[in-house]
Amino acid sequence: MTTVRQMFALQELDIILDRVQDDENKTQNELNNGDGIGDLESALQRDSELLQESELQQRATKLEAETQKERSETLNSQLYGGEITNPRDLESLEHEHSNVLKLIEQHEAALDNIADKVAVAQFKKSELEDKLDEARAAWQIRQTELQDSLKELVKEREEIELQRSKLTEVLDPVSLQQYELLRKSKGGLAVAKVHRGLCQGCKMSLPTHQQQRVRSGRQTVLCSSCGRMLFLV
Ligand SMILES: [Zn+2]
Repeated sequence: MTTVRQMFALQELDIILDRVQDDENKTQNELNNGDGIGDLESALQRDSELLQESELQQRATKLEAETQKERSETLNSQLYGGEITNPRDLESLEHEHSNVLKLIEQHEAALDNIADKVAVAQFKKSELEDKLDEARAAWQIRQTELQDSLKELVKEREEIELQRSKLTEVLDPVSLQQYELLRKSKGGLAVAKVHRGLCQGCKMSLPTHQQQRVRSGRQTVLCSSCGRMLFLV
């Protein structure tokens, strides 16, 4: 005959099993997703691309500025070389020269701007590289810790499962099913202790005749308030 004492023992095992399983899931989850390295890697990737873009822009603008400077020199020597004397030609040359000078000024300003952007991106990149190195080193340590505790948890779970299957072998299937259903519907507590005439599952006071039936231990008594199996310690 299955006694409520055996049910209570089963519940004790199931409570431990739940906790171990929960810890195991959390550990496994952290092992799978907890490194935080992926986010840093994507940030570094984005920053490297930004840096590359700014550097390309810098090179192109420099090249453009140099071309305009050469053009300015050519115009300068034409203006003051004495070969061109026609006032209209000279005027148009002067006009072009002043335009070129404006362009050079614009390029110089743009280059200052780009140089700032490059410096910021370089700084951020090296900062991220340092962070990534640190995160990788820390993750190595954490990973080992997690793998060790996972091994322990699996061992613990297997031991409890073994104890549980030994216990359920001697329980009658109907009581076992009743227990399983109650445990599911009663928030994990199918068997409640009785203490000072109170069901510890719902804290309601039990009628005297019910307490007597529990005390006699001849059959499984369910709490008249919450429906849990009652167990007198
Ligand atoms: Zn109750």
